Amino acid sequence: MIPIEEARTYVMDRCRPQPTVGTDVADALGLVTSADVIANESLPPFANTAMDGFAVRSADLDTVPVRLEVIETIAAGHNPTREVGLGQASRIMTGAPIPDGADAIVMVEKTSVDGDVVTIEAQVEPGNHIRPAGDDVKEGDLVFPAGTRLSAGHLGVLCSLGFQKIDTFPRLRVGVISTGDELVDDGGVLEPGQIRDSNRRTLLSLLSEDAFLPVDLGLVADNELAIEEALSQGAQDCDAVITSGGVSMGDFDYVKAVLDRIGDMRWMQIAIKPAKPLAFGTISGTPIFGLPGNPVSSMVSYELFARAGLRSMMGFREPIRPIIKGVAAKSMRRKADGKIHYVRVIAEQENGTTVVYPVSGQGSHMLASMARSNSLAVLPDGEGCEAGEQVDVLLLD
Ligand code: AMP
Ligand code: MG
Repeated sequence: MIPIEEARTYVMDRCRPQPTVGTDVADALGLVTSADVIANESLPPFANTAMDGFAVRSADLDTVPVRLEVIETIAAGHNPTREVGLGQASRIMTGAPIPDGADAIVMVEKTSVDGDVVTIEAQVEPGNHIRPAGDDVKEGDLVFPAGTRLSAGHLGVLCSLGFQKIDTFPRLRVGVISTGDELVDDGGVLEPGQIRDSNRRTLLSLLSEDAFLPVDLGLVADNELAIEEALSQGAQDCDAVITSGGVSMGDFDYVKAVLDRIGDMRWMQIAIKPAKPLAFGTISGTPIFGLPGNPVSSMVSYELFARAGLRSMMGFREPIRPIIKGVAAKSMRRKADGKIHYVRVIAEQENGTTVVYPVSGQGSHMLASMARSNSLAVLPDGEGCEAGEQVDVLLLD
């Protein structure tokens, strides 16, 4: 067995960032910028009002109440046509440009209107409720540095600044293949010995959650030729391929045999539980992750190796999820076996502390308990931990 760090370093060394591209902002959610984003406009682009109210000369309000002549109404999206003179005011709506002559806004709640005269009750400072041009972003500012993961807010800023395209690492196309003679996916009655394929849906969904582009490459029987065909085709069509099943010690575990023959493969026995076996290789430079077939093992292996490698290919500066400190709500006993154990838990925030509750059903085939948990407690080799002790936690969502 090898330590997890060695396995991960091996994988990450072969998962290099892809050449960067121009991406439509509309398609950029979750991608990582490959160049600094510099503002070529200011935001807001012009001084405007933060309130519905009246644009005034603040000096006119030296003694209040004061009556001012209303000379026009300025709606958002429309330009003022008149300068506000002494004793005058313009009615103005949130977002509308400030008219010449005015230096402050009085909110409508502090006024009363009678025909074309407004009475103002309170004084205001110059600049009151005015949002100056460039208040948020100034032309020439560094908006986001290279390496930023684009969230909804980032995309909004890019739209505000008029960007249509942005330099990013491309979204990775990742193929997913399930292998196993026992697997079916048609929803029909199970024949003796058959089970339904769950890994493919789980892995495709994890890929979506992580902003990769999942490509369903289907179900392949435990047949060396069929697996070879599927792997070489997948390596051609995708930036990376994930398989599940067929990498253990069984008589029909052909994935690792095929990968070894047509690719450059390392079969690893990693000192972790679950997800001990991993076949990682490349076919003509395309990374192939041969994950174990047990449903929980395939998810944990995805988290620890595939996700990290794929994020590194997609330009993430921090491809590996950080481990945080939590407190065990109950004891989590284990036996020393030379492995790190990843225990399914529900982590909850309680008075600023991450408290972890182990869930029942820790077998690597028990996918329901994985689905019910939101985190993995990381137990180093040894006897485990007692209730109240500190424990390392990998928050999965
Ligand atoms: P393997 O890694 O091929 O030896 O499979 C290990 C266990 O995982 C076996 O019990 C398989 O039936 C099960 N398994 C493999 N692939 C899948 C899959 N795609 N969905 C659900 N279970 C699977
Ligand atoms: Mg199998």
